[in-house]
Amino acid sequence: MRIEVDKEKCTGCGICREACPKGPKIWKINDKAEATNLRYCHVCTICASKCPQGAIKVIRDDEDESKENIAKENK
Ligand code: SF4
Ligand code: SF4
Repeated sequence: MRIEVDKEKCTGCGICREACPKGPKIWKINDKAEATNLRYCHVCTICASKCPQGAIKVIRDDEDESKENIAKENK
């Protein structure tokens, strides 16, 4: 899985780190948020739902795969 933060939208407010159950282990907030140490992430997507800017995308591996499968099926 991976977490993408849209740097254009992120204000560095730190809500993602506060909301995340593993926030201090995963999130680094400088002027922008960055998700590090994703091995602690259990893909609950709370961070994405709490971000007031809608800047976070939590992308599950199986979602990537299913998109690939759909793309293949449509060929
Ligand atoms: S909650 Fe959203 S805007 Fe705030 S620091 Fe996290 S990613 Fe950036
Ligand atoms: S998906 Fe959940 S555990 Fe992972 S970074 Fe976001 S809030 Fe934290």
